[in-house]
Amino acid sequence: MQERCPPSSIPELAFPKPACGQADFFSRLVCALPAIAWLLDGEGRLLAMNPLGEAELGYRAADLRGIEPAGNPALTAGAAARLAAELSRIRGGGGGQFEGTLRLRRADGRETERRMTGFALDAGQAGHPAVLLLLPPLAGGETAGEAAAARALLDAIETAAFLIDRRGLVVEANRHALSCLGRTRPEVLGKPLISFLPPELGAARREKGLEVLARGEPLRFEDSWEGRTFLTSIQPVRDAAGEIAQLAVISRDVTEERQAEAERRRLSLQLQQAQKMEAIGTLAGGIAHDFNNLLMAIQGNVSLALFDLDPSHPQHALLTHIERLVQSGADLTSKILGYARKGRYQVRPLPLNELVQETAAAFGRMRKEIQVVCELASGLPPVNADRAQLQQVLLNLFVNAGDAMAGGGTLTLRTALVEAEEIPFQGYAIRPGTYVVLSVADTGTGMTPEVRKRIFEPFFTTKKMGRGTGLGLASAYGIVKSHGGYIDVVSAPGRGATFYVYLPAAAAAQAVEPERRKRPPAGGRGTILLVDDEPEVLEVTACMLERLGYEVLRAGSGREAVAIFRERRADIRLVVLDMIMPEMGGGEVCDALKRIDPEARVLLATGYSLQGQAREILDRGCVGFIQKPFDLEELARKLEVALPRC
Ligand code: ADP
Repeated sequence: MQERCPPSSIPELAFPKPACGQADFFSRLVCALPAIAWLLDGEGRLLAMNPLGEAELGYRAADLRGIEPAGNPALTAGAAARLAAELSRIRGGGGGQFEGTLRLRRADGRETERRMTGFALDAGQAGHPAVLLLLPPLAGGETAGEAAAARALLDAIETAAFLIDRRGLVVEANRHALSCLGRTRPEVLGKPLISFLPPELGAARREKGLEVLARGEPLRFEDSWEGRTFLTSIQPVRDAAGEIAQLAVISRDVTEERQAEAERRRLSLQLQQAQKMEAIGTLAGGIAHDFNNLLMAIQGNVSLALFDLDPSHPQHALLTHIERLVQSGADLTSKILGYARKGRYQVRPLPLNELVQETAAAFGRMRKEIQVVCELASGLPPVNADRAQLQQVLLNLFVNAGDAMAGGGTLTLRTALVEAEEIPFQGYAIRPGTYVVLSVADTGTGMTPEVRKRIFEPFFTTKKMGRGTGLGLASAYGIVKSHGGYIDVVSAPGRGATFYVYLPAAAAAQAVEPERRKRPPAGGRGTILLVDDEPEVLEVTACMLERLGYEVLRAGSGREAVAIFRERRADIRLVVLDMIMPEMGGGEVCDALKRIDPEARVLLATGYSLQGQAREILDRGCVGFIQKPFDLEELARKLEVALPRC
């Protein structure tokens, strides 16, 4: 319900009012202004309107006289609220001038946006002139149609846009801004913008607004609230005199964009990392391959030298030592190839005591504050194991024990032979047989039952960030399992920890006695086609074959091999074929030989494991596989199996 003053209490004021003196001049001036002029009382009721106002709005001054802003048909709801807010401020003693825009509604229903300058004339009582309102057209010759279009555009964008005056009171807000605040237009107009924001966000943005006012430069910043990120820009809006009259505050919720960017960055990093690992893998694989060929050449030559040497010869021990060094080198390539995921699982009968002693000595050198005690049983059978992998298991156990004994302590290593029934751990269904057991006991912190239960889980660690990966025991568990063994632990807080590693004992026939070298038989017969692109390897392997009694045809490439085979296939009993060669690789050569003679017998030689590529080539019909570097004895053994029986 609009409240009206009794008409009798409203003085008859109109522009112009023929009068004399200053009042006349004032009236004329107001009439001459290219602006709608309203005179309002302290309650915002219209007392007078100039003729331009009547012409532009289509109302007569008399139609609007005495009507409060909320009921004034020439004011939109927002404009009425805005005016009411200004008047209540003036009534509260906050006089002076105020500025902004005001949205008026014409008698024909069309709306027009006007610039507004209000002059407080008096603290204002009902019925007395309190405010002179001048409402010129918008700057820049903007027409009402243009203003409406601009407004429609502003309302259409999904970004919150506010216009605030120098005091931070909302002059305008677009539709998106209102929906973000969950308020209606009349609710926000004329109110401090920060009163609708959470206090911390409001205070921070107020600071930014003051900064824009002080520096006169626009500001762009990001802030966040309740997990949402906002990109906000505050732009100064200047009046005709170049003074900052208002601030445009434009704020966009960029949470999803930022999340998508972060995800893109993460994926790209991941990709980079994967590519890096791939590249390192390729590089490492290449180096390991060449290095292995080098070892093959050394091993072959040593084998040949040893062949003619009596074990009592003084050089015999030296050459045997070189062989051992070659073996260490081969272990190294195995690790590199393992990293390059070209795993060279070389399971051989292995004397566990030797490996334990060697690894413990290396560990003892690293951790001098730890006393290492070895109580190793003698006469143990070997275990079938990949030396490098088992060494990894030992190192993981030793390093953990070392970490648990930060201030020093004793690491006791024991080996023994046990039968399956003697293994006390109930968690496993133990396969029958004889096992070699290694126990690794420390005098460290020990573990609670909760920790103990989880230690073999991948990524379980109690160590500080950067210290532990939680992969040590998980990989030890995997390796021991893949060797057909078991791993378990006994521990209590403050009582240290003892890890038990059980590995199946190798069958007696597989047992090796490294010191006693069997001289390979030299009774080989027939022709062997040897294919290798490495001249050194080709030469030494050829010499080894010749030493074993074979006649050798040498081929330095796949193509050459195929050509020789085509010509001499009737004489060739076996082809010893390198797997990795440029141009025509082992697989291709194997196929070509089989096309010429489906009965062709091929023994594959490579530094790689039987996994992957080698397995594939082998499955194409090779009769066997020999891993580089090999010695005379192994070569003889493999040839024995691979050659046709005749
Ligand atoms: P990491 O060493 O990277 O933490 P591991 O898988 O090797 O990963 O070990 C997992 C956890 O098992 C360790 O964080 C530690 O809590 C516990 N642990 C392993 N060995 C011992 C030990 N000898 N004494 C006490 N706690 C141990």
